[in-house]
Formats: sequence, C-alpha cells, structure tokens
Amino acid sequence: MGKKFDVIVIGAGPAGYVAAIRCAQLGLKTACVDKWIHNDKHCLGGTCLNAGCIPSKALLESSHLYAAAQKNFSEHGVSVSGVKLDLAQMMARKDKVVADLNQGISALFKSHKITTFTGHGRLLKDKKIEVSALDSEMKEILEAENIILAPGSSPIDIKAAPINGDSIVDSSGALCFTQVPKRLGVIGAGVIGLELGSVWRRLGSEVILLEAQESFLPIADAQISAEAYKQFSKQGLDIRLNARVVHCEVKKSGVMIEYENPQGKQREQVDKLIVAVGRRANTDQLFSDDTGLLLDEWGVVHVDEQCRTNLPGVYAIGDAVKGPMLAHKGSEEGVMVAEVIAGQAGRVNYEAIPSVIYTDPEIAWVGSTEDHLKELGREYTVGVFPFAASGRARAAGETGGMVKVLADAKSDRVLGVHMLGSHVSELIAAAGIAMEFSASSEDIAMTMFAHPTLSEALHEAAMAVEGRAIHMARPPKR
Ligand code: FAD
Ligand code: AMP
Repeated sequence: MGKKFDVIVIGAGPAGYVAAIRCAQLGLKTACVDKWIHNDKHCLGGTCLNAGCIPSKALLESSHLYAAAQKNFSEHGVSVSGVKLDLAQMMARKDKVVADLNQGISALFKSHKITTFTGHGRLLKDKKIEVSALDSEMKEILEAENIILAPGSSPIDIKAAPINGDSIVDSSGALCFTQVPKRLGVIGAGVIGLELGSVWRRLGSEVILLEAQESFLPIADAQISAEAYKQFSKQGLDIRLNARVVHCEVKKSGVMIEYENPQGKQREQVDKLIVAVGRRANTDQLFSDDTGLLLDEWGVVHVDEQCRTNLPGVYAIGDAVKGPMLAHKGSEEGVMVAEVIAGQAGRVNYEAIPSVIYTDPEIAWVGSTEDHLKELGREYTVGVFPFAASGRARAAGETGGMVKVLADAKSDRVLGVHMLGSHVSELIAAAGIAMEFSASSEDIAMTMFAHPTLSEALHEAAMAVEGRAIHMARPPKR
C-alpha cells in the first residue's frame, strides 16, 4: 500500500501549486509531486516562476530602467552621465527575485501542510501515482481519491533551428545570456518572442524577428496590432512577416539563418538566435497507457468545462489542457478543481481571461476582438480613446496607444476591451471586473475614475461608445 492522500497534484507551476493550496484550505490532505531542478535544488513554481513570467518581467523592468536612463531622463531634466550596463548584476537580481519567490511557495506549502515529493510523477491505473526519483532508480507509489494533473508545457523545438543551448536557445536560454548579443534573431513574433526581443532591444541588441504568418499578432484586436506594429518598428524592432525559417547553420561567427519570404530564399547572420515558436503540453511521460487517459489533438489532456478528464476522479489543468497558455488561467482552473473536489460549485469564466503582452507599450485585452464579433455576425458599437489625450499619459511622457471598448449594439453589454499603452497590464483588470459583472459600456461611463490617471482612458473609451467622450474633438458633421 502506498501513502494515501485525498488529493495528489502533479506539477507545482501556477496551476498545480495554487490547486494544492486551495485543496489544503478546504481541508483536503494534499500532496504535490514536482520535478523542477535548478542548481541541484528542487524549486517550486514551475515554468512561470523559474523560466517564464517572473524572470522575464524582472528583466523587462531592469531593461526598461536602463533604456529610460539612457534616453528619457534628460527630457525630464534629470542629467545622468556614465550610464553603464552591469548585465551580471541584472541577472543576479532576477535570480534573487525568483529564489525569494521559490522560498515563498515552499513556506506556503509548509503552512498549509502540503506534502511535497520531488521526482517524476506518472499516473497509473486506479488513481495511483508512481514517483521516480530524479537522481536514482528509486520509485514510490502514492494513492489518492483525486488526482490533479498540472504538468505544464515546454518550448517547441523545430528541426530548422535545433537548440544547442549556446548560439541557438529557447526562451529559458534567452533569460540567461551572459553578454548582450550584438545582432539577435528571434524566430516567432508571438507573445514570448516579442517580450524577449523587447528586453534585448532595450539592452542594446539589434533585434530581427522572423514570423511565418503574414499578419502581425493576429490574436490581438487588428487595430491594436496595427498600431503596435508601427510603434515597435519605430523603436527599432525589425519585424519581418511572411518569413518562415527553414534552416540554420551554426558557425564560429554566429548563426546563419535561412528563411523564405514571398521574394524567395533569404539569409541573415546573427550572434544569437532565440526560438520562440510556441509551447506544447508535457504529456509524454505523464501516464501509463493502461489508464486510458484521453488526449486531444496537440497532445493536450481532454477535459470538460470543469477540467474533469475522461477518468473519474482525475482532473487536468493549466498549460496541459485547452485554452490560452497563461499562468492565471491555470491558477483559476486550480481553484475551480479544488472546489469541485470539495463539493462546491467551482467555475472559471473562460469569456473573461485577460491577456497581456509585456512589450513597451504594453498590449492587454479581455473578451472578443472586433474581427471575432464580425465572424459571429454580432452587431456591436465601438468607443476608442487615445492616450495622447490623457493628461496623466502626457505627464508621464507615455502617449502611445489607446483604449478600445466594444459593446453589444442592442444591450450595450461590454463584449471586449483592448488596450495598447503604458501600464495597461494593470488597467485591464478594471475591464475584467466589468465583464465579470456583465457591465454595459454605460456602467463604466457612469463610474467615477480618479483624475489624473491612465485608467481615465477606459472611462473615456466607454463614453466614446455613445460619442460622448469629453476630451475628444467632436467628429465633423457629415
Ligand atoms: P508549468 O508552469 O509549466 O509547471 C508545470 C510543473 O510541473 C513544472 O515544475 C514541471 O517541472 C512539473 N512537471 C511536469 N511534468 C511532471 C511530472 N510528470 N512529474 C512531476 N513534475 C512534473 N504567462 C502569463 O500568464 N503571464 C506572463 O507574463 C507569462 N510570461 C511568460 C514568459 C515566458 C518566457 C514563458 C516561457 C512563459 C510565460 N507565460 C506567461 C506562460 C506561463 O509560464 C504558463 O502559462 C504557466 O507557467 C503554466 O502553468 P502550469 O502550472 O500549467 O505549468
Ligand atoms: P506563440 O505561439 O504566440 O508563442 O507564437 C509563435 C509564433 O512562431 C507563431 O506566430 C508562428 O507563426 C511562428 N513560427 C512558427 N514556426 C516558425 C518558423 N519556422 N519561422 C518563423 N516563424 C515561425
């Protein structure tokens, strides 16, 4: 007989560790199996904390300060001379931010009496979990009434550009460069490629993004993507669309990239190359075949709206199931599943998942894009307010971008909010709350916003839905 628990979670990323904590809060005897090792130490937090959201944002913040000290301080009347980059210190700070948060999750696990097992977890028949040690042949069998699979995802590797951990790296490698590459290539101008490209651009790299698709950021609202493309290009990000990388050759002097565009075969030499072409679910060694666990195409675990798999008592959450690969989406699924296990209602509103791209300016949205509403044949109204007309944005010198509100033409219910601008990763929360409460654009328009704040742009965009934004010139009469 193995050790018995009410719940065993496989994976301690933002989906798994949050699920474990919520289970423990609800009085369930909980264990969590995880295998993330860094410097011979087991680190809780998964991709998000160790090689994703947190280290990338630490570097975004640091690189933003460096670029501002170089370019923007003088405009504010602040003279600094001799601004120098200490990349080793920047990386050490990033590592410390991560290590402090690793300890934070360990402390949370301890205080919630969650038992941690370090090793590879595999689902066996009859809700048993086999834990294989990472440094020996040792195996242990655990049992539980309920299993939550939260194994996350890993970067996709492509034959055209095999990762070598040196000149060709994935997103994890791109967070650890020891020198600023002079010329940096990025395959994939998606969320991760753009974020990492922005970091290294700000630190001085010449950045070339090669994107196979012909449109830029098709997941975002087209108006926002078009404006973002203009602004990023102005900043010096060289974004080449319709450019499919077909081959790479590692040379002493760097990497020779071969890509195809409508004009034919092209070549580009770079010092380092980041491959950011997407991620795939970690379901390869997750379960034994005799369990009969069902996967969807793309290898994600098949689940229903409450993250139940086809096996009774087995749930799956986070990047390993359908939906956007976002930390907060996984965390909310973790909470939902814990509550379902504890006999509560448990629900995730998949219509109101905020998405953020941490570029400069940032891109954020919640709900439907205009193109999606057109596809659905829904009638809608639009209100747009540019940050250039916001007093606070002007005071901050961050006037790029806009807020756009889409509302149902008949009921006025907010269907989507899209933002491009400084700090919109924070502003989007207000739009998320509005959508969660099924607000109308008029509800937002009637809400009082503090002045002067960037959030007033949301207020004005909601008023613009009815053509009554205050700080906008009247459109000429037709
Ligand atoms: P993961 O975080 O991948 O965690 C899974 C854990 O399970 C890992 O520790 C793994 O080692 C472990 N594991 C896997 N299989 C087993 C097994 N069989 N046995 C034991 N342990 C196992 N998302 C955002 O929302 N905001 C962002 O700003 C953001 N930035 C990102 C930046 C980068 C560079 C990257 C790469 C990703 C970013 N993401 C961001 C995405 C985010 O990291 C993921 O959506 C999130 O980590 C998914 O959480 P998860 O818990 O499902 O899986
Ligand atoms: P995301 O899934 O948001 O991380 O984006 C990954 C991007 O990589 C997508 O927009 C893909 O079109 C792009 N991509 C995938 N393979 C290639 C390739 N061989 N060359 C250029 N871009 C690619």
